[in-house]
Amino acid sequence: MTAFDPAAFLPDDLLETIRSRAAGVDRDNVFPVDDLADLTAAGYLGILVPAELGGAGLSLAEAAVLQQRLATAAPATALAINMHLVWTGVAKVMGERGIDTLRFVQEGAVAGEVFAFGISEAGNDLVLFGSDTVAEPQPDGSYTFTGRKIFTSLGPVWTQLGLHGLDTTSPDAPQLVYAFVPRTDAVITRDDWDTVGMRGTQSRTTELHGAHAPAGRVVRRVAPGPNPDPIVFGIFSVFELLLAAVYTGVARRALDVAVETARARTSKKTGAPYSHDPDIRWRVAEMALAYDALPPQIEALAHDVDAGTDHGGLWFAKLSGVKHRAVTTAKQVVDEAMLVGGGSSYFSGHELGRLYRDVLAGLFHPSDPESAHATVASAWLGSVG
Ligand SMILES: Cc1cc2nc3c(=O)[nH]c(=O)nc-3n(C[C@H](O)[C@H](O)[C@H](O)COP(=O)(O)OP(=O)(O)OC[C@H]3O[C@@H](n4cnc5c(N)ncnc54)[C@H](O)[C@@H]3O)c2cc1C
Repeated sequence: MTAFDPAAFLPDDLLETIRSRAAGVDRDNVFPVDDLADLTAAGYLGILVPAELGGAGLSLAEAAVLQQRLATAAPATALAINMHLVWTGVAKVMGERGIDTLRFVQEGAVAGEVFAFGISEAGNDLVLFGSDTVAEPQPDGSYTFTGRKIFTSLGPVWTQLGLHGLDTTSPDAPQLVYAFVPRTDAVITRDDWDTVGMRGTQSRTTELHGAHAPAGRVVRRVAPGPNPDPIVFGIFSVFELLLAAVYTGVARRALDVAVETARARTSKKTGAPYSHDPDIRWRVAEMALAYDALPPQIEALAHDVDAGTDHGGLWFAKLSGVKHRAVTTAKQVVDEAMLVGGGSSYFSGHELGRLYRDVLAGLFHPSDPESAHATVASAWLGSVG
């Protein structure tokens, strides 16, 4: 078996090109269309698709390494692509467990389709366990979806939207319906993304006006509420691990920039570079101590998903835990980097200033801190009442 070489899938020159665009994408508040074109040409949209279907056939653990690498260059590009990778990862997890209903996602990803992740809804803190979107069954087994999704990354460029909605009329209702709809006139992408950070994701509001999913694109129907169904496990596991990877990449970049800055700045007081200053050395060491814990955690858990290891009732706590630790640690590392960088990092065009704004988004993704703590508390203490 040959060793996995991240540079074979994300070459250094491509990474530098993507890095060189990131500041402009952030300043202009636009989707990084050139990054997407380059990544598509490099086969990146198919990294999680099995080789026999034309993809790179990487494991989740390998994809997580690549997403860390991509996020060091352009966090928003990495986060947006993450949503596409989540669906291809769900297809892989389900396929490996004998459920082949997402094969069209794998074939589509290789053919250049861009899959967005339409789960979040305003005020829906049930997330995967409920939906205010109406899923209306049709006689031929297809569904139409009416409602509003928020924060749909890849807003201007996706070609297929994977979403969920609630069917309240079928004989076995209520059922949460997972399906994929193409971009048609029944879907409106609002132009309403103007955020503090992660501006390139263009995670816009999506209006669904009877958007139609053909029967073959209705991939799963599950009872609402906490549910260990393979699609719930697939989404949860791939989403949490790849998100953790993106924010770990942000932490790594902040650490690297802090080291470069500490070496480049010279103290008038001592005439020595800041990298000789004991306080700066302590601060950089704190950052490295915190960062170093993250990649092995992601690798270990991603490997367990790849291998089908059963953590039973602790799975969700482990997955939300690694995501929580990654985003909170990344935020702490970027905070420290800002101080090493000094006042210039406070300018919004400075890379550290951008990372400082980008890293904040990590706290809002599921599992947010409250949800992660509730999941872990239930796993260890049992539920209340
Ligand atoms: C950069 C970024 C990219 C993301 N990409 C995706 C993606 O691709 N796909 C996806 O599914 N999710 C995505 N998310 C969504 C994310 O994971 C969270 O779901 C999102 O941050 C909402 O969090 P919240 O519920 O805490 O927000 P909140 O602030 O609680 O709510 C968000 C919106 O809903 C409104 N709202 C809140 N409560 C109510 C209520 N009771 N009634 C009516 N309106 C209400 C608020 O006014 C606000 O407009 C992304 C988030 C970020 C930050």
